Amino acid sequence: MPAFGFRSWAEISRAKLAENFRRVSAVVGDGVEIVGVVKADAYGHGAVEVSRVLTGAGARWLAVSSAEEGITLREAGIDARILVMSDRATAVYRELVHYRLTPVVHSLSDLRELSSLAAGSGAPLSYHLKIDTGMGRLGTRADAAQIAAAVKEAANLRLEGLMTHFASSADYTNKQTERQVRAFNRIAAGLKKAGICPQFMHMSSTNPVAYGRREALQNMIRVGHALYGYVSPARGEAPERVLHVEPVLSWKASVISTKEVPEHAHIGYGGMFRTHRPTRIAILGVGYADGLSHRLSNRGHVIAAGKLVPILGAVSMDLTTIDVTDCPSIQPGDTVTLLGSEGDVSINAQQMARMAGTISYDILCGIRARVKRVYV
Ligand SMILES: *Cc1c(COP(=O)(O)O)cnc(C)c1O
Repeated sequence: MPAFGFRSWAEISRAKLAENFRRVSAVVGDGVEIVGVVKADAYGHGAVEVSRVLTGAGARWLAVSSAEEGITLREAGIDARILVMSDRATAVYRELVHYRLTPVVHSLSDLRELSSLAAGSGAPLSYHLKIDTGMGRLGTRADAAQIAAAVKEAANLRLEGLMTHFASSADYTNKQTERQVRAFNRIAAGLKKAGICPQFMHMSSTNPVAYGRREALQNMIRVGHALYGYVSPARGEAPERVLHVEPVLSWKASVISTKEVPEHAHIGYGGMFRTHRPTRIAILGVGYADGLSHRLSNRGHVIAAGKLVPILGAVSMDLTTIDVTDCPSIQPGDTVTLLGSEGDVSINAQQMARMAGTISYDILCGIRARVKRVYV
């Protein structure tokens, strides 16, 4: 238990984060710029500290979702280029300029509007243009000729990057990714013919990098999940993974109280669990208000004294009960592990996600602000 006595906290390893960045670099090689994706508070790892580590490891680019997230980094003194991936550039134009943030533009009408906002501003604002090659979310679906005309018309802006995003890049049961790559290359070739050659071309997030889709790397990649130590499992006949990373975050909780209850005792809200033997329980200072999914009620596990033990009954707002009958050493004040490892027993966010019926991204982003982040 740490000296500060938190009920629940997340330990984030700077060394592992930097190592994951280096492993991504080693896989993609020189000539591919790595954008460290630190949106959503760096997937719950703390955007400012993560950005410091990544820039220290050599990252020259970071990506966030909103101008507001970019401003937080600038105000903390982060000097790297910052790509704002999912905001409305026209709505935050002043902030983009003032904080030197680089917007992704999602449509040709936004491009025209942004260019008129930038009229008379002196230095042109650099932007990356997103193409919807089949994701069916953000990005323009215009053809190369229409894009070329709009880019040339937007004379107060500078097209620095052309990008797209894959819908199913770990899915080897269909050809959606290949189709998206072809659609992107077709647009890029059309723009080139029109004399438009953006400095950066990027389409890949973690999965295409991890499964070695070389044709999708272009000269820039945007990786988040891998930096935090995860790669989504592939579907279908995937090639062997070329990237190996390790989870950066461990999630801990302290034991508030322990006690013995008899056989047939109800545990927690709704009496959702009933003991089938005299049971020693431990009550943890963590609940769904900390991000421990209510769906782990009667299903999830934690690691106590190096053993995997079950969650008993309902996860409640601030408390969770576990079975420590087989861990006699566990006492109030001890620490258990929700995510991470003790000895050779471990639980990662993908395993927790499977139990909770969600995905690892959701588990990591779901760890709430009141869970203190401790950097080790
Ligand atoms: C979140 C995001 C990424 C990073 O994806 P990971 O799977 O975490 O590597 C890349 N590009 C865009 C557009 C994103 O929204």
